[in-house]
Amino acid sequence: MKIAAVDPFYLRMPDITTAADGTQDTLLVRVRTDTGLEGWGECDASPLVSLAVYCCPMSHGNIINIRTSLIGETLDSPDDVLQLSEKVLRNGLDIQQIQHAYSGAEIALWDVIGQQLETPVYRLLAEMSDTSDSAHPKLPYASVLFGDTPEATHRIAAGLREQGYRAAKFGWGAMGKFGEANDIALVQAAREGMGTDAQIMIDAGVVWRADHETAYRRAEVFAQFSPTWLEEPLAPDAIDAYGSLTKKRPRVPIAAGEGSDTYRTAEDLIVHGGVQFVQIDAGRIGGIMPSFQVRQLAERHGIQYVNHTFKSHLSLAAALHVFATNPDFDLLEYPAAGSELSQCLVRDPFRVASDGMVRVRELPGLGVHVDTEAIRPHLAPVRIEVGADTVFEQPPLV
Ligand SMILES: [Mg+2]
Repeated sequence: MKIAAVDPFYLRMPDITTAADGTQDTLLVRVRTDTGLEGWGECDASPLVSLAVYCCPMSHGNIINIRTSLIGETLDSPDDVLQLSEKVLRNGLDIQQIQHAYSGAEIALWDVIGQQLETPVYRLLAEMSDTSDSAHPKLPYASVLFGDTPEATHRIAAGLREQGYRAAKFGWGAMGKFGEANDIALVQAAREGMGTDAQIMIDAGVVWRADHETAYRRAEVFAQFSPTWLEEPLAPDAIDAYGSLTKKRPRVPIAAGEGSDTYRTAEDLIVHGGVQFVQIDAGRIGGIMPSFQVRQLAERHGIQYVNHTFKSHLSLAAALHVFATNPDFDLLEYPAAGSELSQCLVRDPFRVASDGMVRVRELPGLGVHVDTEAIRPHLAPVRIEVGADTVFEQPPLV
């Protein structure tokens, strides 16, 4: 079959705030074939900057947009997805946002080829890598922001506990901004709200930049509340500082990696940064295949792979297929407090089963369906003109 259309859609909530909440808007990508199949992907990136990568006029031979690279191409096998990825990345060699932007299309291509072959994406990945194709359940951890105060954080934690979550991650907000005593009080509130038998994770939201000594002291002092990890205490590219921090073996394991925009960035964090949990967002790193390659690297290094997902359940589906077949990587970041847009985006979100676990679906492709009716009110139609030419005009969302 041939790729007939590649369409990016920009969606947003009525009001965009400075909160560290990436669900306020989004960029979806729809791929259609000449045989009538349709696949979807979602980018976790700056939506309008990424949209430009789909339609910007050619600048020279190393700046050719994603649509030009894909439309008209043959798509009959997983190998074709890999070859198309190579072509897109080669044509966009000098487009710095290319992996972020391409993630949506790459995920959509896997959705299409899975439907064509009537196979879930995770099984296609298992076949390609000659590994087990049994899927394993994941323990969802609710992913929320810290409250503004320890009291507010306690209320959030207790609420999650009431909803039945056995694990939750608290991040960003006041962490690292008002001194050590407040940082400790925030973590204590999260622990007490969730209870002693739950898992808690702490996301410092890159607050200590390259200051690995403060990060180490916090990891040591947080150890009394037994968090599963301390996430992103340092800036994404502070690889040397991560190396210095992890060499001291703090009592709380260090997690990072959501900012990885290439396989190589993640490899750097694993090999030189020494992280014990690598967190990969398929919607940033270039899609499902580079995420899968980081998973394989984590397996070789004996560290844990975890998804980073702070978008809709379309992104969650892509994330699940990447590591469904590894029984040891058993934690799943599960968006629990996103915008109305992120919550209505698919018709069939992943529910937490009665055993408290989430499972990948035994359906062709990604196994979720975008609810175009529900998201249409959030569509912000984009039209780009350059001189007398219309470079891009959003197609209808039908
Ligand atoms: Mg994070």
